[in-house]
Order: sequence, then C-alpha cells, then structure tokens
Amino acid sequence: MAEITLNSLAHSYGEKPDGQKEYAIREMTHVWEQGGAFALLGPSGCGKSTLLNIISGLLEPSEGEVLFDGKRVNELKPEERNIAQVFQFPVVYDTMSVYDNLAFPLRNIGVPEYKVRSKVHEVAEILELTEQLKRKAKGLSADQKQKVSMGRGLVRDDVSAILFDEPLTVIDPQLKWKLRRKLKQIHEQFNITMVYVTHDQLEASTFADKIAVMYNGQIVQFGTPRELFENPAHTFVGYFIGSPGMNFFEADLIQQTDGTTAIRFGEYDITASQTMLSQLSDMQVNKVTLGIRPEFVHVWDGKSDDAFLVEVDYVEDLGTYKILSFLFNGKMMKARLSEDQKIPSGQVYVSFPEQWTKVYVNDYLVEPKQETQDAN
Ligand code: ADP
Ligand code: MG
Repeated sequence: MAEITLNSLAHSYGEKPDGQKEYAIREMTHVWEQGGAFALLGPSGCGKSTLLNIISGLLEPSEGEVLFDGKRVNELKPEERNIAQVFQFPVVYDTMSVYDNLAFPLRNIGVPEYKVRSKVHEVAEILELTEQLKRKAKGLSADQKQKVSMGRGLVRDDVSAILFDEPLTVIDPQLKWKLRRKLKQIHEQFNITMVYVTHDQLEASTFADKIAVMYNGQIVQFGTPRELFENPAHTFVGYFIGSPGMNFFEADLIQQTDGTTAIRFGEYDITASQTMLSQLSDMQVNKVTLGIRPEFVHVWDGKSDDAFLVEVDYVEDLGTYKILSFLFNGKMMKARLSEDQKIPSGQVYVSFPEQWTKVYVNDYLVEPKQETQDAN
C-alpha cells in the first residue's frame, strides 16, 4: 500500500509541426493518499489513461517524478512497482482456465499453491465466477472476461495500489452497478489505494471518496463529490458535474465614480460581498465569469424587490423535479424547481444567492478571502 505522489509531472507524446511540445499531461503536482478510494474523472482525450500508465510504469513521463511513499520509482519497471492495473478491455489468457487466469499473478510471485487456491476462490466468489473456474477463458462472454480481468487485478492484496482504467465499459448496466459496489467493498476490506478512471460522474461519485477532475491534461480540482458540487474550483468542474451543469455568464467589472466597484450584466447589478469586490478590484480585471448551479437559483412565486424579472422560456418536467429555462439579459439559464413549486409562465422573479454565486477569472474560482475577525 502506498501514497502516490506526482511531482511536477508532464508528458508529451511528441512534437507539434512547429517544434513546440504537445502536452497530454500538463505540469501537475498531485498526491493520492495511501489507502484512499479515488476517481479520476474527465472527458475522453483529457489524459486519464496517460496518467495511469505513467503511474504503473507502462509509460515513461517526459518530465517530473513519480514517488511511492516518497521514493522515486521512475526507473522501476512496471513489474517492480507492485501495482495492479485493470484495463478498459479484458486482458485474459484465452487458452487458460478461469482458475489459472486468476492464479497467474500469484503464481508469478511464488505464492504457495494452498494460498493461491484460497485467494482464487475468495475473489471468484466476490465476482460470481465460481461456477466458471474450470472453463477456458476463450468461451466466456465479454463481460465475464472482464470480470476475470478485474479478478486478476484483485487477487494480490500486497500491491501498492490498484489502477482501474474505465473497467466497466464492456459490462452491462445492471452488472456495472453491482461490480462497483463490490469494488467499494473490496476497498473497505483491504484498504488498498485505488484509482478508478471514468468519464461518468455517477460512477465516480458512487465509487470514490475523493474525485480528481481532469481537463485538458490537468487536474483542475480534487475534492469530495460535495465539494465539486458546491464549490467548483474551475468552470469545467461546474459544467461537467451536475445535471444540468452550472449556469455561466460573463459580466463586467465596473469602477464607479464614487470609488466603488460593481459587477454588471447588461442592466443588472449582481450582488457580491465587499471583500469579493475589493479582491476583484485588486486583480485589475475588467471581466469576470459568474457561475450558479440550477439548484441554487431562487425562483420566486410572486413579486420580489431584490430579484430580477426574467423571461420564462420553457419548463421541462423530469418526474420528481422540473427544470425552468429562462432568459436573463438574453442569456439562456436554468433553474431547478422543487416538486411543490408553482410553474411559472411569462415572466418570473429569480435571484442568485450571494453564497452560491461563484466568481471566476480565467476559468479559475476566485476564493473569497476570509474577513479578519478583529480588524483594527
Ligand atoms: P483519456 O484516457 O482521458 O481518453 P488519453 O490519455 O488516452 O486520454 O489521451 C490523452 C491525449 O494524448 C489525447 O489527445 C490522445 O490523442 C493522446 N495520445 C494518447 N496516446 C497516445 C499515443 N500513444 N501517441 C500519441 N498520442 C497519444
Ligand atoms: Mg482512456
């Protein structure tokens, strides 16, 4: 079991025609703490597999270091790193029986046969492969093969970490759910550091305690599902997590003649704390992106003095809740209505609670500085 540190890591598969390097992983420093259940979540092509392959040693990073428990492992071959990796598509020996496939990683390191037998049976039991143990892998269905492949990753409990690269892609939805639960159980039982790669936010949040959201070769936020929802550190996290994602609009930062600062979107002034306004003023930007999740937009049943009057576009009924689309200064935005809420038509008052209206500059969240308690 190990803590995995990525130190100023970067990777480029090659050069662009103009000689500049094209980075699949842009410089990152990141720690996967020992024993955690983590997800690495991001869209296709953002660098997830590249990152896993660097950790397991299948790929040598062009820059930076990989450390296990503080020790540099860059020079170690994959088999010397003591890591199990499960890939998107099954890796099984077709001519061997399921039993021998599962036993392989253990026999490889000289585990005595009686221990191999008990471990193979234990893992087969968890994955519901007991009845297939004697069969040749060749005749198995795609998802059974993938279960064998996962089993091969799970038989050794002495590994430093287990890396899963979208392991449930070929598995049917019903079984997917079950296997994810099993993985979580296995994690709780053995406390092995696990990194689970997926592009599916639901899969990430059901498996992991902490999720690293990856975008364009970088980890833009590492946090609990709740942190990613409530306080997206980057606009991509706001957009990618949640359904529908966060509303964004670009507003102007206006320095007023009386010396105060205002955030203006068309004819509307958006409220922000004095601290935030002075922070933004210090940053000397003249545009900011504001973000608010549909769940946090307040939709008023009647008239409200502190709210904005907006045009209702349509209301979508999703069974247990409804999504209101409205036009705010020409920008289409969404709000989630609760079950018992009045369905608006025509025009409606909405407001954006300050706490949930996030401010972004160059796509990164501007964290409000804590106001000092005893300012003198
Ligand atoms: P993900 O797993 O998130 O879908 P990958 O790590 O596979 O992303 O790919 C990240 C980027 O690196 C992509 O732009 C991809 O085209 C590129 N890439 C991946 N593998 C190779 C390779 N062997 N050679 C060149 N480019 C690659
Ligand atoms: Mg991949």
